[in-house]
Amino acid sequence: MQQSSNHLLISLLKHYFGFDFFRPLQQEIITDSLLGKDTIALLPTGGGKSLCYQLRSLAAPGLTIVISPLIALMKDQVDALSEQGIQATFLNSSLSREASAQCRRRLENSEYRLLYVAPERLALDGMLEQLERWQLSFIAVDEAHCISEWGHDFRPEYRQLSLLRDRFPDVPIMALTATATLRVRNDISQLLKLRSPASYVASFNRPNLSYRIIQRDQPLKQLIEVIRDHPGESGIIYCLSRAGTERIAQALNAKGFSALAYHAGLDAEERTKRQEQFINDEVPIIAATIAFGMGIDKPDVRYVIHHDLPKNLESYYQETGRAGRDGLPSECVMLYSAGDAVKLHRFIDELSSPQERDIARDHLRSLLRFAESSTCRRIELLRYFGEQYLSPTGAAPDFCGACDNCLTPRPSFDGTLAAQKILSCAVRIKQKSGFSVGLLHLVDVLCGAKTEKVAKFGHDSLSTYAIGKDRPRAEWLSYANELIQLGLLQICPERFNVAEVTESGAAVLRGLQFVELHQPLVKAGLSVEKRKLQRRRTGHVEVDPVLFGALRRLRLDIAREIKLPAYLIFSDATLQQMALLKPKSEAEMLQVSGVGDVKLKRYGARFLQVINNS
Ligand code: ADP
Ligand code: ZN
Repeated sequence: MQQSSNHLLISLLKHYFGFDFFRPLQQEIITDSLLGKDTIALLPTGGGKSLCYQLRSLAAPGLTIVISPLIALMKDQVDALSEQGIQATFLNSSLSREASAQCRRRLENSEYRLLYVAPERLALDGMLEQLERWQLSFIAVDEAHCISEWGHDFRPEYRQLSLLRDRFPDVPIMALTATATLRVRNDISQLLKLRSPASYVASFNRPNLSYRIIQRDQPLKQLIEVIRDHPGESGIIYCLSRAGTERIAQALNAKGFSALAYHAGLDAEERTKRQEQFINDEVPIIAATIAFGMGIDKPDVRYVIHHDLPKNLESYYQETGRAGRDGLPSECVMLYSAGDAVKLHRFIDELSSPQERDIARDHLRSLLRFAESSTCRRIELLRYFGEQYLSPTGAAPDFCGACDNCLTPRPSFDGTLAAQKILSCAVRIKQKSGFSVGLLHLVDVLCGAKTEKVAKFGHDSLSTYAIGKDRPRAEWLSYANELIQLGLLQICPERFNVAEVTESGAAVLRGLQFVELHQPLVKAGLSVEKRKLQRRRTGHVEVDPVLFGALRRLRLDIAREIKLPAYLIFSDATLQQMALLKPKSEAEMLQVSGVGDVKLKRYGARFLQVINNS
C-alpha cells in the first residue's frame, strides 16, 4: 500500500506541478496526513509548504480548506492553481455579493478541490455547517505561527481556529510555518487542539543563498555593484526609514535603473500597485521598509540587500529568506557600519520599558556579533536557530564555501597590543570610578572622545584616555567585539551590559597570552573571481543567456496577455532548464522540471517555437 501511495503521489506531482522529485520532508508530511494524522510542517521559506497541502488535497476525495491570513495572497494562489488545472477558489471580504454567491453554488456542486478562507470567516454564521455539507475532508492552516503570541506575527483571529477541531474531530489538520521555535510549535499544537501530531522540521539552511556583509562606504556605488551583477533580475533593498527608500529609489532611477520605493506611508492603493509592478516583473528593483515582504511569494527574487542593519537576526533570516525561493542561486548582501550600531544603541537607551530595552539590546548584540564575526556566516546563522550546519554529505565542516568569510577570510594579525589597550582601559576605568562601563563608553575613552559622560566621570584624566586615537572608532568597536567572542571581555547583562575583563583577559594584560585579531570588515565586496566561485558553490548553471532571455520575454508577453504574474506561467528555474535541455518535442518538453500536463497543453507550443528558432 505504501508503494502504491508513493507511486500515486509522484504521478500527481508530475501531472499537476511538473516536478519529478519531492523537496525534503514533503512526501513524508503528505503521506502521514493521508493516513489521517495531524501534522506540523516546519519548513523554511522556499521549502515548498504550499505543495504539501495542495498535493495532499488532490490525493484524497472531499474538499480541502486552507486557512490563510493574507487575503491578497489568496487570489494569487488560486490563480496559480488554476494555471495548473486544479479547481480552487476563495471566500473573503474582497468578493462581491454575486461572486460570493456563485462561489458557494459551485461549492455545493463539489466543483472545487481547495477553498481558501481567512480565519475570521469560520466564526461567521453558518460557515461550519456549510463546510460539513461541502464534505470537508482536510484542513490546512498556513502561517500557523500567527496563532502564538510568541511568534513574530500574532493574529488574534487565529485563536478561533480551535473551533475546527471541536466541529470536525476526525478531519486531519496540517499546520505549516517557517517559524521554528519550540514555544511556537507547542502553542500551535495546543491551540489548534492537534491529536499527537507528527512534527516535521526541515533544515533551515538555504543552500542556494550566499551571504556577504561589507562595510558601508559609498552605499549607492555598492548597491549598484550588486545590481549590475543581476541585470534585469528582481531584487529587494531593505532600508530603515521611509525617507531612505524614497532617496534610494530616486538615486537608482537617476542612474538609469528602474526602481520603486515601498513603505507604510503610501496609501493602500499605491502600495498594491507598486507591489504588483514588482511581482509582474515590470519594475525589477524595490527599495522598501520591512512593511514589504510578508505576502510576497515571488519565487525569483535574485538578491536582497540590507542597506541598513536589520532589527535582529531573526528578521535578517526572514528578510534574506525572500531571495531565491525557487532554489536558484541568489545573494544576500548587508551594508554594515559600526556607526549604525552606535546610533541604534542610543535609540534603544531611549525606549521607555526596561524589558523592551533588555530584549532590544540582546537582539542588537547578537546581530553585531554576527556582523563582525570572522567565521562562516551560514554556520553562525544556523547556530543561532539551534541547528548545526551539515554539508550535503552529512559532515559538519566549519566552512560553507558560499559566504564572504569562507571565500575571503579576513586577514588576521598579532592583536596583542590592541587587546591590551582595550583591556587596560577597562581596568583603569573601574579602578577610578568603582564601576565598569559599556563598550561604547569604553571606546569613547580609548579614542579620546569629548563626550558629556567622559567629562562627568572625569575619564579624560585616565592614563589610557586617547591611547587609541590612531585608529578609527569603528575599528576599536570591531576589536572589542572580537575580544568578547574570545572570552577576554565579558558583557554583564544583569548590570546594564557593562564590559568586564575576564580572567583570561587579565592574563593577556600580564603579557602571558597572545591575541589574534582580524582586520575589520572590508570596504569592497568580493572580487569577480571569488563571486564566480560563490555562484558555483550555490549551484549556478551557465545557460545560453540569449535563449534564456528570449524565453523570459515570451513569458512576459503571455503574462500580459492573460494578466497574471509571469512566474505563475513558468518559474525561472523551469526556463533555465528549458534553455539548458533545449527540448525539441512535447514529450521532451514534459521532461523539464516545472512543466506539467496542463501547462504543456497551454503554452508548450509557443515555448518550443522559441527554442526551435534559437
Ligand atoms: P514556502 O511556502 O515554503 O515558502 P512555496 O510553497 O512558495 O514555499 O514553494 C517555493 C517554490 O518551490 C515554488 O516556486 C514551488 O513551485 C517550488 N517547489 C515546491 N516544491 C517543489 C518540488 N518538489 N520540486 C521543485 N520545486 C518545488
Ligand atoms: Zn561560510
